[in-house]
Amino acid sequence: MPTESLAAPARALPSLLGTTPQEITDLVASLGEPGFRAKQIIEWTYAKRATSIEAMSSLSKPLRQALAERYVARSMSIAKVTGSEDTTRKFLLKLNDGRYIETVLIPANPALYGGDSDRRTLCVSSQVGCAYDCKFCASGLAGFTRNLTAAEIVEQIVLVEAHVGERVDNLVFMGMGEPLANYSNLIKAIEILNAEWGIGIGARHMTVSTSGLAPQIKKLADFPLQIRLAISLHGASDDVRSKIMPVNQKHDLAELFDALQTWRSKRKQHMTLEYILIKDVNDMIAQAHLLAKRARSIHAKVNLIPYNTVEGLDWERPSEAQQDAFRDVLLAAGVTATLRREKGHDIAAACGQLRLMQETSEGIIQSPVPAKRITIGAGAL
Ligand code: SAH
Repeated sequence: MPTESLAAPARALPSLLGTTPQEITDLVASLGEPGFRAKQIIEWTYAKRATSIEAMSSLSKPLRQALAERYVARSMSIAKVTGSEDTTRKFLLKLNDGRYIETVLIPANPALYGGDSDRRTLCVSSQVGCAYDCKFCASGLAGFTRNLTAAEIVEQIVLVEAHVGERVDNLVFMGMGEPLANYSNLIKAIEILNAEWGIGIGARHMTVSTSGLAPQIKKLADFPLQIRLAISLHGASDDVRSKIMPVNQKHDLAELFDALQTWRSKRKQHMTLEYILIKDVNDMIAQAHLLAKRARSIHAKVNLIPYNTVEGLDWERPSEAQQDAFRDVLLAAGVTATLRREKGHDIAAACGQLRLMQETSEGIIQSPVPAKRITIGAGAL
């Protein structure tokens, strides 16, 4: 069966949304154009959000032509939107090589990432697929395909903002992929997203979430922008965590917490530990005590997330009583802990499932589970 990726144009041009003023200044100079043209191009790209190079009307025709030989204004399109205006909306985005990623818009952020409750949060992807194979996660089910470019990361925000007609206030890198495994593109995207000439989102409103790549966490600790860090922990002892997240065999908890201490010594913002509660796997009260100890050692907040069932994976969420008991251990130990039960989060948490279903139905990937068994979210769509 022919696949979308084979049908994609042989030479897909990158989007201008990944360019910096310096890169455009160099390009303009190499074309023999006056320097002020660079500023105009950057303005058309980011401030005015021009959706085509043709529409950049203050540029000469030959300059537009030269730009169009090298770039496009948009490299992706919205293939599908699910959810509604007052709940979480999930966007399936088609890339210019025929692959798909997901981006999730969460209307109100209940102050989980340091934002205010009336803020719109966008959960963005950093890779197509994921190599880390966490046992609870749909994104890794079909393996890793490729990194997203900085432009493809930035374009997710631009496409969603254009679709909803509103600005996004908070970004969390909790969509598909491991952001710290795509380090240089992530950093470039964050710089563009933060820049005044770019998208203009405050660094404190961006959270990078990682499965625990200790060396990259140490490196990121020296990144000058005051972004926030979240760790997908999901196990408070090595035996439990290794069962859930194979990455723990490479970077164990001792190494991870050493990196987190480095982060803490260099940064002001508190970290967040994400902990999915999975019945009889990591929801034991003994884990709660260990988790409390670990959270206190780095002054981190804890977000508890009831496991969202993924078809093809066996685990279940614990009873509400067990979830509450787990949280209460943390609270009693003086740890700031939240337990999220909203439906919206279910959809966000299931990031990767919509793409899995789309790519499976198009024959781009082989289904790790029979396609008709893949459902999205917790039936909330
Ligand atoms: N690779 C990065 C970014 C992916 S976000 C990281 O590991 O942090 C991963 C987060 O998505 C998890 O920490 C969890 O909060 C959420 N998530 C993924 N699958 C889930 C599931 N089945 N149920 C609940 N939350 C899930």
